[in-house]
Amino acid sequence: MIEHSLQAMAAALANKEISSVELTQLYLERIARHNSQLNAYITVDPARSLAQADAADARLARGEGGPLTGIPIAHKDIFCASGWLTTCGSKMLSNFVSPYDAAVIARFHAAGAVMLGKTNMDEFAMGSSNETSFYGPVHNPWDDSRVPGGSSGGSAASVAARLAPAATGTDTGGSIRQPAALCNLTGMKPTYGVISRYGMIAFASSLDQAGPLGRSAADCAILLNAMAGFDERDSTSLDRPAEDFSREINATSTAKPLAGLKIGLPEEFFAGGCSPEVMQLVEAAIGEYRQLGAETVSIRLPSMGLSVAAYYVIAPAEASSNLARFDGVRYGYRAPDYQDLNDMYCKSRAQGFGDEVKRRILIGTYVLSHGYYDAYYLQAQRIRRLIANDFASAFQKCDVIIGPTSPSTAFQLGEKAADPVQMYLSDIYTIAVNLAGLPGISIPCGFAGGLPAGLQLIGDYFTEARLLNIAHRYQQANAWHLQRPGGFD
Ligand code: GLN
Repeated sequence: MIEHSLQAMAAALANKEISSVELTQLYLERIARHNSQLNAYITVDPARSLAQADAADARLARGEGGPLTGIPIAHKDIFCASGWLTTCGSKMLSNFVSPYDAAVIARFHAAGAVMLGKTNMDEFAMGSSNETSFYGPVHNPWDDSRVPGGSSGGSAASVAARLAPAATGTDTGGSIRQPAALCNLTGMKPTYGVISRYGMIAFASSLDQAGPLGRSAADCAILLNAMAGFDERDSTSLDRPAEDFSREINATSTAKPLAGLKIGLPEEFFAGGCSPEVMQLVEAAIGEYRQLGAETVSIRLPSMGLSVAAYYVIAPAEASSNLARFDGVRYGYRAPDYQDLNDMYCKSRAQGFGDEVKRRILIGTYVLSHGYYDAYYLQAQRIRRLIANDFASAFQKCDVIIGPTSPSTAFQLGEKAADPVQMYLSDIYTIAVNLAGLPGISIPCGFAGGLPAGLQLIGDYFTEARLLNIAHRYQQANAWHLQRPGGFD
């Protein structure tokens, strides 16, 4: 059952081969058995999950089930969920039980999905290795001395080890795609505004976007169908007609399903900077795409090289403003001893935030301060526009852009922790996509030294259904995405 696609799982539930309670129990047992090795979950609450499963079974018995009814899903601990501890990986929120559901959580509830637990993550989603969590690092199921990627590392590790059929993540600069790559999963960041950010704890609001982490593109399309949709409570949510993101996947296929597709290969992605083993796998995947009928064209993204620098001005600037709300007054951690109000703010924030979060707040307040705003923040915003323009010209010449997701396979725990800049460069291929607000997906494309590598596909705005299909056709032609790590029986 744990290797069933979401569609097959839904069919098994509909045919009464298994009940949602049994399926949920199966995963809860797997979590109980293996989570201590991975540290993928911050919170599991079996009674709550099983009550939801029970309700799902009743719904299925009435014949009212949908594609996700009764299926357990793990959620990144950045999504507020009513009655659940919602920590965002921080001591600051280590006592915060949310009184309401994020839009994403509410949508999964409405679909009848079961909430399996809250997954570990980098503190406030700041990181690329899941080592900045207050709850300790997550271990990669492919090699537990290595990182799973971040910041959605708990979600990725849980799905990779089959401790959840699928999970949610968020991606501000690569946090869905990079852990997907490092854990042999499919992970998608949709176009900015497609999924409501309501109740998703804010890091950098103009970049943050939720998305699915699954074992295949077909599974991700089903998850995205549940997650996407207009929400008036998020002012950046887009009011667009509902669409079925599985529609191209479900269309009949031919021997050359991608005939006529133009794949753009950015010179900047292939100019060095990526490990040769990963590059070899990416080149092989491009060869497979040609077999499927696609043609390739060389393109340029000239401002791409500035993306990490621009991101590390814009994201900390927004974070410094968003995180001002954590002051020990309304909710969250409050220092036990203090002299006066100011001292209470200082001590609560000094004790409640970890080093990476403090580093971002310092950078952010600096670049927004008088005299530096023009020199840093405005310049970064101009670069952001240039990057978006680069992509717009590229999409005149091609339908989809392909390259690596991450410059390397999973690195050792601790390897980059002491060098923030090295860590920041882990997202060199993903960050520009967030700056431009475009959709991107990472899919498994093979192994180097026993560790998975990811192929990134970037599309123009609102081409999720096509991107998912391009990923799906590749997954029908090979079995990389079906490989799972050993030792989690
Ligand atoms: N690694 C990047 C950062 O640390 C991106 C994180 C994310 O996408 N949430 O900011």
